[in-house]
Amino acid sequence: MTSQGLHLSGAPFLRQENKGLAEPHGSRALGESAERSSKHNRQVTLSVPYWEQWREEAHAVKRFAIHHLDQLLVEFERNAVGRGATVLWAKDAEEANRHVLDIVQKHQVKTVVKSKSMVTEEMELNHVLASVGVRALETDLGEYLVQLAGQRPVHIVTPALHLSAEDVGRLFAEKLNEPFTSEHEKLTDIARRHLREEYLRADMGISGVNFALADTGSICIIENEGNAGLSISAPPVHVAVMGMEKVIPSIRYLPLFLNLLARSGTGQKLTTYTHLVHGVTPGRHFYIIILDNGRSNVLRDPASRSSLFCIRCGACLNACPVYRRTGGWAYGWVYPGPIGAIITPHLVGMEDAGKLPFASSLCGACGEVCPVKIDIPHQLVHLRYRAVNSPSPVRSPLERLVWKAWSWAMASPLRYRLAMSVVRWGVRFAKYLPWHPAQLGAWTRGRELPEVPGYTFRSWWRHRGAELSREPATPGKKSNPVTQEVSA
Ligand code: SF4
Repeated sequence: MTSQGLHLSGAPFLRQENKGLAEPHGSRALGESAERSSKHNRQVTLSVPYWEQWREEAHAVKRFAIHHLDQLLVEFERNAVGRGATVLWAKDAEEANRHVLDIVQKHQVKTVVKSKSMVTEEMELNHVLASVGVRALETDLGEYLVQLAGQRPVHIVTPALHLSAEDVGRLFAEKLNEPFTSEHEKLTDIARRHLREEYLRADMGISGVNFALADTGSICIIENEGNAGLSISAPPVHVAVMGMEKVIPSIRYLPLFLNLLARSGTGQKLTTYTHLVHGVTPGRHFYIIILDNGRSNVLRDPASRSSLFCIRCGACLNACPVYRRTGGWAYGWVYPGPIGAIITPHLVGMEDAGKLPFASSLCGACGEVCPVKIDIPHQLVHLRYRAVNSPSPVRSPLERLVWKAWSWAMASPLRYRLAMSVVRWGVRFAKYLPWHPAQLGAWTRGRELPEVPGYTFRSWWRHRGAELSREPATPGKKSNPVTQEVSA
């Protein structure tokens, strides 16, 4: 399996989705894992009697934080600088990369160890570092695997969800010259052995930030493998890159978010490690880069603003039937699943990612599991509205024509009935066509035309209503108001 065709300049969802459909083994394994995680994590969250109350509180804290972002970020900067950190601001990925390259030059960095950070994926930081001859190694096991395989993460919490133990064994044999094994313990031993050396050799560690605490100027990073702790403490320079929405008002709210994030993300009560970085120790250097990169666009749109509440737990991905079927690459950019569908159009632009909000059945599962109660389904609908009404609509001329015809037919009962008759006859006779409808494209390749029943719902309803109205009334039995209405 490869991630070829994946690109960061946009997200033509349907084209990528069709690629996913051509890889049934890969997407099935991912779908099963996501579903398993979703069920497990859901049980864990539902076992907390005050779960709903926690969600409400977290929503309120995040709402306050996003509505006071300007003040909280300044407060965070002041307190972080007071503890010896250097805080740098970046309006886009390019400026953030320039900051990192300046730090690299200043400290003569040759090798970097990185702990998991989606925001540095946004910046394509590894490529930028490689372009100046700096080797950046991912140390989170999942990220390490996808980096070795030359792929992109498929999930924001479990980046190598699509790889089986056998896949990993083959990868280690090919890239690290290790004897093949598919035993989990042996595989983690191999990864640990190779990574251990790197922490000691690295000149700089780069991390993301889970929460930035305005009142203390500290950052919080959570993880399970110990790699983040080593990445930020072993090398003499630590650069933490955070999206500007990561700030919360006070350390007092941190336990609430840690409880929600661990349970929703991995079904744990708490992650194995919680690192609080309060400034810098003598002889070391600590930089924090605060990145906008399109987040101001989200802030400007009141209907989308709450997507900035996201704490990147990944629960909405696991719950989403579309993500489970298509996998992460189909979304074409860094953030897959429902959260990707609502933030990517803001971050990369509606022209490139306007199709993403349509990658949903609007079943509502994402909104139900979100620990900070982001109303994802409504945001999807809002973005769909914006996409079809934008100056460069995402629909093709043919699609626009079809929808125009549809709305014309739907506007009158007579036209609707006529249109339904044409569709029924069309479906019935499609099987006699000299070519198979599967040739219409990838969508039809995996689907059969339905059998058309001998009657329509409307005729069934009329017939049934008439039948019921003839039935003798049973004493004591209440008559059905629906059929009464029909027979009347
Ligand atoms: S939108 Fe909600 S469920 Fe999805 S990743 Fe963000 S916090 Fe988690």
